[in-house]
Amino acid sequence: MSDHKKTYDEIFDLLEKHDNWMRNTINLIASENVSSPAVRSAIVSDFRDRYAEGWPGERVYAGCKFIDEVEIICMNLAKELYNAEFADVRPVSGVVANLMMYTAAMAPGERMMALSIAHGGHISHARKNLGGTAGAIRGHKVQNWVFNDEDFNIDVDASLAKIRKLQDKGDEIKFLLFGGSVFPFPHPMKEFREIADEFDIIIGYDSAHVCGLIASGRFQDPLREGADMVTLSTHKTLFGPQHGVVLSTEKFADAIKRAAFPGMMSNHHLHNVAGLAVAFAEMMEFGKDYTGQILKNARALAQSLHERGFKVIAEHLGFTESHTLLVDITETPLQHGNVLEERLEDANIIINRNLLPWDKKRGRDYKTPGGIRLGTSETTRLGMKESEMDAVAEFITRVVMKEEDVKKVAADVSEFKKDYQKVHYAFDTETEAYAHLRFK
Ligand SMILES: *Cc1c(COP(=O)(O)O)cnc(C)c1O
Repeated sequence: MSDHKKTYDEIFDLLEKHDNWMRNTINLIASENVSSPAVRSAIVSDFRDRYAEGWPGERVYAGCKFIDEVEIICMNLAKELYNAEFADVRPVSGVVANLMMYTAAMAPGERMMALSIAHGGHISHARKNLGGTAGAIRGHKVQNWVFNDEDFNIDVDASLAKIRKLQDKGDEIKFLLFGGSVFPFPHPMKEFREIADEFDIIIGYDSAHVCGLIASGRFQDPLREGADMVTLSTHKTLFGPQHGVVLSTEKFADAIKRAAFPGMMSNHHLHNVAGLAVAFAEMMEFGKDYTGQILKNARALAQSLHERGFKVIAEHLGFTESHTLLVDITETPLQHGNVLEERLEDANIIINRNLLPWDKKRGRDYKTPGGIRLGTSETTRLGMKESEMDAVAEFITRVVMKEEDVKKVAADVSEFKKDYQKVHYAFDTETEAYAHLRFK
């Protein structure tokens, strides 16, 4: 056999190993989900090999008549789901959607406000010294929201005072960014509309994590609460392919379109636009039930962990109003987020380590943080409910609190997972969730 054929076979072997592992694991990564067989068949269509630069009907390429129809359906579904005047479904990811939003809102170098990473902000919101997209790529000066650690939310009065002080000094803020990657509670936004109007500040909302919840009316509605623009990552609580979207009022439509093309994309991954349209249709049909169960599961998981001695943040607020919970693990026997992450992975439980708001002050960084972040999107999609969340909490407890042999827990997790191998809340619920569509 030639070396190249060996490499070729090895790739498929690795893919198969990964799929088999996923069948045996409990995935609690808050930013992941499992897409339906229907979404997956859309993204392996011939669209994956085509170009369609520009706007439907005004393409720079020929051969686009059916691609145009699908993209228009996708845009219309996005506008309907989010009650938005304008939707651009071309960004190939959430970070690219954010770059389009920044481009439409500000000139390079202008000043914006966003959450710090330790408070749940995403790296695409971060300043230059961290290599963040806003600072390092666009040159924006980033000021951070003042944060209430205990309530895990933006401190309205202190943040308003900070904006006013900066304006008074001549350090003008041009853009306020809400949303984040640890996002258990809706952000206060209405409270900032007045100051935004006073100083001509544009408001953006990064709904990457929560856009599935928003589509079903289960989280705040950013366009009604004062946002000018909203960005999406389409594969977190929304169960689509990996892609992005920008929504806005009519006022920003042209600037966003220009940012997409010719600004940011030549090829905008047409197969994923098709997959996204399918996911939007599924969301319209099943979203309300699906996201309702996500929220119930997140609270159930938090409660079950709490009862087993875990310190889930914001107990006084019911732990979470989204799919995400944050757990302070510094007082558990394993103490460090990275150690838990590894140990749980060996037990077939996939989670993220995560910074806590107060970690930096205690000399911790993202490599050895004091927290873990858990999300219930994927387990819910596989049909798990509150009682299964209790079982999941017990598996975590056996690894982290009782320090049981991870091999034993891994075997028990595999056994438990056998009953959760199909995608729920979809038109086709027969195909296996982790089946790999392979052509001969
Ligand atoms: C995940 C995430 C993104 C990035 O989305 P990608 O699709 O991975 O590029 C942007 N913002 C927030 C808040 C996120 O959590």
